[in-house]
Amino acid sequence: MTLGALRVGGSMASYNVKALGVYNEHLDQVGDTLLVEDGIIKGPGTASYAKDINVEGYVTPAFVDAHLHISWLGLALRGVDLTKAQSPEALARSLARSRGEIAYGRGWDQERFRPRGALPSRRLLDQYVPGRPSIAVRTCGHMAVLNTLALETTGVHRMFPGLVDPETGVAKEDAVFAAVELLFEKVDLTSMVRKALVEVRKNGIAGVSSMACPVGEARALAALERRGDLGVRVACYPREHHLEAAASLLGDGRMARVVGVKDFADGSLGARTAYLGEDYNDDPGNRGLRLLDSRDIVGLARRVLDKGLRLAIHAIGDAAIEHVIEAYEEVGIGEGGRIEHASIAPPKLIERLAGLDSFVVVQPHFRVSDWWVEDRLGQERARWAYPFKTMARAGVKLALSTDAPVETLDPLETIRAAESRCVEPACRAEEALSRKEVFYYYTRASALASGGPVAGLGSLEKGSPAELIWFREDPASSSELGPPMWVLGN
Ligand SMILES: [Zn+2]
Repeated sequence: MTLGALRVGGSMASYNVKALGVYNEHLDQVGDTLLVEDGIIKGPGTASYAKDINVEGYVTPAFVDAHLHISWLGLALRGVDLTKAQSPEALARSLARSRGEIAYGRGWDQERFRPRGALPSRRLLDQYVPGRPSIAVRTCGHMAVLNTLALETTGVHRMFPGLVDPETGVAKEDAVFAAVELLFEKVDLTSMVRKALVEVRKNGIAGVSSMACPVGEARALAALERRGDLGVRVACYPREHHLEAAASLLGDGRMARVVGVKDFADGSLGARTAYLGEDYNDDPGNRGLRLLDSRDIVGLARRVLDKGLRLAIHAIGDAAIEHVIEAYEEVGIGEGGRIEHASIAPPKLIERLAGLDSFVVVQPHFRVSDWWVEDRLGQERARWAYPFKTMARAGVKLALSTDAPVETLDPLETIRAAESRCVEPACRAEEALSRKEVFYYYTRASALASGGPVAGLGSLEKGSPAELIWFREDPASSSELGPPMWVLGN
């Protein structure tokens, strides 16, 4: 089925949903019938419309992904997948198969290379992918290698001398984001963004927060909204320097608009740029990168809140999280603030996170991808990685997300990781969320954390948009769920 105007934001139709069970966002059964009038939920009750939709399964509100990257996802779908590359040479060979005037690939991890930790280089890409700009982005998105043409086209080595090694072509942090934006600035992103949104919807997800959404993405979202072809509600969180342009493009769109600003307090664990309180276990002398301190964050928060927007700060290392907490406490930001990732959270920080009343937006699948977490942190600190249950018990306002394309968009994989049904060191049984917690954090909580056009999702309350999915298996009792399906089809 197409993602036509009718389906966008829920069909305007009126109907009775009849199912084996209807569950709300807490996975409490509210009955077996749900009434929908003009695309809006009226609540449980006796069938009162001419049309019945019979579902051979269990209905729930659709998922909301509170942190992903729409245009990066579109690029990843268009570019080559480098997740399987086992050496820099294999990476370069795969990248050469990328189509289009810019060779783009994503997903490599030097920990999977032989020899382990070897990095690809500018010269290697020059050799395998000559004649066009080429860039291979690491799985975390915080590190990339560029060939000579890509360096020359973008000039990122001059713009970010501390973040790009012009000799090796390896770029980190802002230099990566800028390189991708500059390379694709003249490419029309509309069809790529639409492809990404189709993929999102296919996974039973009705709304998202698109983090660090660049101006080109805002332009594409605005174009899709104008032609009624968006399919997914989008809360955009651009960087501050893109705020004005993105906000004027999106205006007060019904389905997609700017809700807040995103910035980074540190980098990633994989790239050893996450800012830690003590040295990396596998890189003595390195504590990562502090990109913002609490002073910077206080200033940014005041500017953003003044405009009636929210602030979302990326913080992975414990020291970075502490800076965000300090700033948020000082400003009294409450629900106007979000913390993205909060990956390495020792107990003393969890208490303070709970006291903030800000959403903490986590990515369960990091538990699987960070299989080397004990190498980076040592066993002692690795116990602080992804402590979702401890956070939930302490009263931290959690919301779930995938960070796609950093991790898979697949909600089933995300649920499995959230429930610690995985084997990597960070999948600790004592930190498993219950199924009920997972559903709440992945529907209503992630809608509230997203805000704006997404805020009304994730609920069966009267007046909510009828964005409904169903499972063949009973989600309250079945450990292995099959893929979610849309009650009205895609
Ligand atoms: Zn992200």
